[in-house]
Amino acid sequence: MRASAAALPPDVQARLAARIRDVPDFPRPGVLFKDITPLLADAVAFAGCVKALAAPWRGARIDAVCGIEARGFIFGAALACELEAGFVPLRKAGKLPATTRGVDFRLEYGSARLEVHADALAPGARVVLIDDVLATGGTLAAAFELLQGVGAEVLGAAVVVELEFLRGRARWPASVPLLSLLHF
Ligand code: AMP
Repeated sequence: MRASAAALPPDVQARLAARIRDVPDFPRPGVLFKDITPLLADAVAFAGCVKALAAPWRGARIDAVCGIEARGFIFGAALACELEAGFVPLRKAGKLPATTRGVDFRLEYGSARLEVHADALAPGARVVLIDDVLATGGTLAAAFELLQGVGAEVLGAAVVVELEFLRGRARWPASVPLLSLLHF
């Protein structure tokens, strides 16, 4: 499968990159936040982004796209429509109303929990995982563990932005495709 930014037409890649805004010291001092809202507001960039995210999975019989709260919902829902798949939200602790399965994981500071509705995915469901930014990789790895734990078949993951210097990819199983559109 195509799993690198090289698959993106150069004009699309340039347009996407130009629509990622760096916000220093957010949400805390020392963090350079990659703000994707300018990309979302640009119709051409957003459509190009969703098409690029969808490209590796066309014809792959994806049952569901699983998006990580919160910005993964935006790309994930659009990707699900593009792939004619369902959308399943992976939410922070206590947000989903029905019976859930969850996984606890560590963040740089403190800990977090991701949950999914226990009945959201049939056993063996073919899923793709999506988020906006891959940083240290803890969130994506936890989501993978959660989906495997409920019996889904995770065909791969996709992010819009990969922060390579944080080496998050090392926490993702090497045998499972991980597509990132833009590398910083
Ligand atoms: P991590 O678990 O460290 O890979 O963090 C990934 C999650 O945190 C994603 O859901 C991102 O939305 C968010 N995130 C982490 N670092 C950044 C950053 N520098 N800019 C924007 N979002 C970030």
